Amino acid sequence: MPTIDTKKPVLLTGGGGYIASWIAKQLLEDGRHVRATVRNPQDRKKNAHLMALAEGTPGNLELYAADLTVEGSFQTAMDGCELVLHTASPFFIDGIKDPQKQLVEPALQGTRNVLNSVNAVASVKRVVLTSSVAAIMGDAIEARQKADQTFTEQDWNTSSSLSNNPYPYSKVLAERAAWEMAQAQSRWDLVVINPAFVLGPSLSGRSDSTSDNFMRSMVGGQYRTGAPDLYFGIVDVRDVARAHILAGMTSEAKGRHILCADTLSFAQIADAVRSEFPSAPLPNRKAPKFLLYFIGPFFGLSWSYINNNIGHSYRLDNSYSKSNLGIRYRPVSETLCDHAREILNSSGA
Ligand code: NAP
Repeated sequence: MPTIDTKKPVLLTGGGGYIASWIAKQLLEDGRHVRATVRNPQDRKKNAHLMALAEGTPGNLELYAADLTVEGSFQTAMDGCELVLHTASPFFIDGIKDPQKQLVEPALQGTRNVLNSVNAVASVKRVVLTSSVAAIMGDAIEARQKADQTFTEQDWNTSSSLSNNPYPYSKVLAERAAWEMAQAQSRWDLVVINPAFVLGPSLSGRSDSTSDNFMRSMVGGQYRTGAPDLYFGIVDVRDVARAHILAGMTSEAKGRHILCADTLSFAQIADAVRSEFPSAPLPNRKAPKFLLYFIGPFFGLSWSYINNNIGHSYRLDNSYSKSNLGIRYRPVSETLCDHAREILNSSGA
């Protein structure tokens, strides 16, 4: 049960990402010294939002170069840190050509690479790893086997593989490897955060964020003709950021933590956004399942994904995150409307 010195720098891997940018903002507002790793600190355009975040806050920010696939590249940035927040990992589900190279290697080797450096840097006392509910559950149909259709931190996703849902598979492998490495030593401890689908305003405006792109597609009319009957556990990006900081700073924090405010269908998400933005071209009916078998593959939905997810609801038990970290979840309607507003305002719509 380590106590983290708030005056020591905090290492934040993948600092420019959608979730990490909110972590950086909250740490800086808390007056912390943040060492954020990015792949290219010289890329002014990509890092501009991060540099802007530090302005006017009591904290300070330094950027370091590090790549998940380059052994030892996080070590310099880590030296002197007691807390490591490891968020960096590729998150995309479309356009995957080589899942081993694009997803599994950076997620798994990257986590081992970061933790090898943690083993080598004596100052580190705690690591918070951003895993996912994707490491807890595979397809929604698996909820049928669960009491009250509910997944808990005891569950592991055992159905995903390189060929079936490779992104979740990358998260399972990375989290399992992290637990193995944590249990093989006693100097630092591991706390894991398992967010559901993260939504809410983006600080970076980057076009490669899967979360941000989902809401852009919703309010941009991509599902105007009908949305698949899919269900999403949803959590606000600002709550996810706070959970990482609490997981890092709460001495007694331990184990895995599902973060989820509620589970909504595609149609319920659309209805919540429509209540504030009635003229947005949101879906107002379900896409028939038979149609999805025809058009799904063009949108990256395999037939087995359609079979095992369309029409299957599930729940995620968030009680441990509330009792162990003291998380209070924002209502999902607020998350969705804040996110939609930010996109509609920035697009001038
Ligand atoms: P994101 O905006 O796409 O950020 C991903 C981050 O990973 C970026 O900072 C990116 O760095 C970094 N990264 C990717 N490949 C890298 C490599 N080879 N070397 C170094 N850095 C690399 O995604 P996000 O939504 O914030 O996700 C952050 C974490 O949360 C991931 O671990 C993801 O699996 C997890 N998660 C996300 C969600 C969600 O719904 N968003 C839900 C559950 C879990 P660059 O800035 O250099 O591109």
